[in-house]
Amino acid sequence: MSDLKDIVPISEWFPGKNITELLIAGPCSAESEEQVMETGKEIIKHTDIKIYRAGIWKPRTRPGSFEGVGLEGLKWLQKLKKETGLLTAVEVAYPEHIKACIEHDVDILWIGARTTANPFSVEELANALVGVDKPILVKNPVNPDLSLWIGAIERLYKKGIRKIAGVHRGFYPFEKTIFRNIPKWEIVIELKRKFPHLPIITDPSHISGTVKYLREISQKAMDLNMNGLMIETHINPKAAKSDKEQQITPVELKELLNSLKVRQAVCENEEVQNKLDQYREQIDSIDNQLLDLLAQRMDVVSEIGKHKCENNVSILQLRRWEKIIETRTEVGEKLGLGNEFIVKLLQLVHKESIQKQAEVMDKMGKCK
Ligand code: PEP
Ligand code: MN
Repeated sequence: MSDLKDIVPISEWFPGKNITELLIAGPCSAESEEQVMETGKEIIKHTDIKIYRAGIWKPRTRPGSFEGVGLEGLKWLQKLKKETGLLTAVEVAYPEHIKACIEHDVDILWIGARTTANPFSVEELANALVGVDKPILVKNPVNPDLSLWIGAIERLYKKGIRKIAGVHRGFYPFEKTIFRNIPKWEIVIELKRKFPHLPIITDPSHISGTVKYLREISQKAMDLNMNGLMIETHINPKAAKSDKEQQITPVELKELLNSLKVRQAVCENEEVQNKLDQYREQIDSIDNQLLDLLAQRMDVVSEIGKHKCENNVSILQLRRWEKIIETRTEVGEKLGLGNEFIVKLLQLVHKESIQKQAEVMDKMGKCK
């Protein structure tokens, strides 16, 4: 089970519908029958979207804000589905939600970021999903903990669910950032590396928090060959009862989707592929050299550790560290490397060096 290799590809989720990637749009919340119907009809008028999302029960940070319309909203979704053929997707947080969604013929269920962060809740949902043949999307947990995300997916998989996809919706930022939730592509790439069969889509709306970065994030998702997008779309975003800053109109959705450049995951042109292979060989060779140099650096670090230990000098030498940052960023700049990148890289190397020296000192026992 650990490789999740029996996960069913998206193309087999809805036979006959020709759905190979998950393009999902619809409002943050279902608010009224008119809003649900009009948004849905406008979406299909302007785009090829086949899956409609709407929150029915909303996980709000504080009580008292709009918490969703509840069961009534499922009836509107059912009507929309009947009239337009759109498939529907809804967030579930309790077993009763699952039951209600099944009764109203909802096609896709998703587990929200706050729920994914809670293994008790996920286990409860997984139990309620035994024997339910519906695709389940698992949003990343609010905190950047890949194991927690994987754990939620595994809990479903263990109960026999095979139509699963991850949704990258960004992670709660502790520091001030331009995003509502920080995208951590390295986590997504690691998830994909561990479980190549698991489809992963991106939710640029909850990452961005405003309409401003939707395009940039969606394009990044395409560049990284994500398996789809979930974009909050509302007939009248200004009047939305939740997440109004980040929702776009169906016409804006069309413009956004049309502006995206979709990259090929596999290259069919032989010449392009050959060139790509050559570049990759160069990169492989450079990476090996980098690793070699890092290992050499660490050997010297061990020697310094011994030397400091024998002469009772402390590991951290602040002046020296400042000098390293100053000189390396200067060189980096001349070489066209960004300051932030160099500093981050040096911090990692420095941390490892300190650790190494501490280990050396530890081994030597009482120095001198
Ligand atoms: C949503 O999709 O409306 C939502 C609440 O998302 P998340 O769980 O990612 O916050
Ligand atoms: Mn929302």
